[in-house]
Amino acid sequence: MKKALSLVLLCTTLTFYAQTEEVTYNLSKTTSKTTSKTTSNIDTYWQQHVDYTMDIDMDVNNYQYKGKYTNNSPDELSKVFYHLYFNAFQPGSQMDVRSLNITDPDGRVRDRISKLEPNEIGYIKVNTLQQNGAAVTFETVGTILEVTLNKPVKSGESVTFNMDFDAQVPVQIRRSGRNGSEGVALSMAQWYPKMAEYDFEGWHTPPYVAREFHGVWGDFDVTLHIDKSFVVGGTGYLQNPQEIGHGYEDKSKELNLPKGDKLTWHFKAPRVHDFMWAADPAYIHDIFKMENGIDLHFYYKNTLDKKYLQNWKDLQPKTAELMTYFSEHVGQYPYKQYSVMQGGDGGMEYAMSTLITGQRSYGSLFGVTAHEMAHTWFQFLLASNESLHPWMDEGFGSYISALAENEILKEGKVNPNAGPYSSYNFMVNSGSEEVLTTHADRYNTNRAYGFASYSKGSMFLAQLEYIIGAENTAKGIKKYFTDFSFKHPTPNDIKRTMEKVSGIDLGWYLNEWTQTLHTIDYGIKSVEGNEITLERIGQMPMPIDVEVTYTDGTKQNYNIPLEMMRGSKPTKASILKDWGWAYPTYSFNAAKKVRSVAIDTSKLMADVNDDNNVFEVK
Ligand SMILES: [Zn+2]
Repeated sequence: MKKALSLVLLCTTLTFYAQTEEVTYNLSKTTSKTTSKTTSNIDTYWQQHVDYTMDIDMDVNNYQYKGKYTNNSPDELSKVFYHLYFNAFQPGSQMDVRSLNITDPDGRVRDRISKLEPNEIGYIKVNTLQQNGAAVTFETVGTILEVTLNKPVKSGESVTFNMDFDAQVPVQIRRSGRNGSEGVALSMAQWYPKMAEYDFEGWHTPPYVAREFHGVWGDFDVTLHIDKSFVVGGTGYLQNPQEIGHGYEDKSKELNLPKGDKLTWHFKAPRVHDFMWAADPAYIHDIFKMENGIDLHFYYKNTLDKKYLQNWKDLQPKTAELMTYFSEHVGQYPYKQYSVMQGGDGGMEYAMSTLITGQRSYGSLFGVTAHEMAHTWFQFLLASNESLHPWMDEGFGSYISALAENEILKEGKVNPNAGPYSSYNFMVNSGSEEVLTTHADRYNTNRAYGFASYSKGSMFLAQLEYIIGAENTAKGIKKYFTDFSFKHPTPNDIKRTMEKVSGIDLGWYLNEWTQTLHTIDYGIKSVEGNEITLERIGQMPMPIDVEVTYTDGTKQNYNIPLEMMRGSKPTKASILKDWGWAYPTYSFNAAKKVRSVAIDTSKLMADVNDDNNVFEVK
């Protein structure tokens, strides 16, 4: 039965139609209800709000889709935009052509889109769209629907949109689709017409070419009618477990299953900015209940090899430890449920959930789960614009998941985030490094994107430990969550937060590290008697930690703040006069006769040339 269903999916074109999509605009100058926390920009900060109601019938290939959209922009809008992500999976699309032309294509994409048959492609075709009941002009341009409104939406005004569309689920190419490489029937990510975000920078309507997303905060109400053999999970709380079973039911109560071939799944997801679901008839569905009331759901195919099935069991208590770690070190997870689902094509983060391929060693399964779950904080709750600043979610997520893994797996690493430092030197020397202000899709190579976003992004925080101290960095991460969760923080917001907790100016750091390709190289120029002279060789300035070993065998640590910091980190080292960056050298007298000098023994400063960091007096 299960195999037969899979086969049906293999050769069936999954098409869905929407009769009505209602989107209501409500402009208001006040902050939305999701932004009630006090921050310095509370008077000027605003963000959009969207409420979707979707009704989806997979059996008859019919999707119905409704939404209420609240726009808190102070601006009058004459246009709105929707993302139609499935349109990327068509021969000749920008995603296809970009993959064909880039020098290091993603192995999952390569030329696969160019070879899709008509019944394998993805699409969302909008048939009609109305604003307050009157038809509006719209045009589908690749993966973006451009809508010209009949009359501008004024601040404080509500508008309702109705949309008719039909769509087709593509075979799995990247992130979403049907019949993935491990046979998961439906990985439904980026699957619905999604309102584009409008914020202080204006509209964000990048075509879907490769990666990274940005969405509008709101509430989702999704009803799904699907063959009763399918187990469904994803974003949102199931509202009718007794009508579903499949492991969701309260076993002390009676099931109330409807007659017929279908079950009706009703999900609600409050305060999210995306909605993912996945479905497969062969899913095992486990619930791991945490003591604090959070339910961890796991979905993985019963057709997996025994060794993989065991990995998925072993993962469950460790996922709870990850949830606890991130809640304690970033901020309390605000939902009551998180789901780890076999699906997708690697690992990808979604609202209240992740899709991850299941045929993995235990270490890989745990590591990818840690990374994707970390995204719940860095990207989902702290919803920075991934397209513009992928280093803020990939980098910060990598940073915090490395700390979590070190603790949970008892790895005992002194610097769990040391890994990226070695790839940093490699990338700098390759000459193909690109600046972090590059849009995620606009890096010349996938490698340069990956390095900038993951490695240099995680080093942003690791290196902050060196500049402002580990305790301040940890405190800053928590304050960042307190001030900016359920919002769209920007690079300046993480900078300002770290400045507030440390009392140290960091504008120079944000600029040098994320807006230039300047590199750090400090060296010890000379030691004469007790006088030590340091030199700045690289263009990027930094505060300098120096460990001095005296001829009597004792050691002393010195800290030289960078003048632009207007302060120094908490340290047991002797704090010396600060160093104005323009001066190429800096001399100071050590207390006793010097045997050797070492710059930054923590190795947290990304010095591109270690050779001149240690000096032995002959
Ligand atoms: Zn990631």
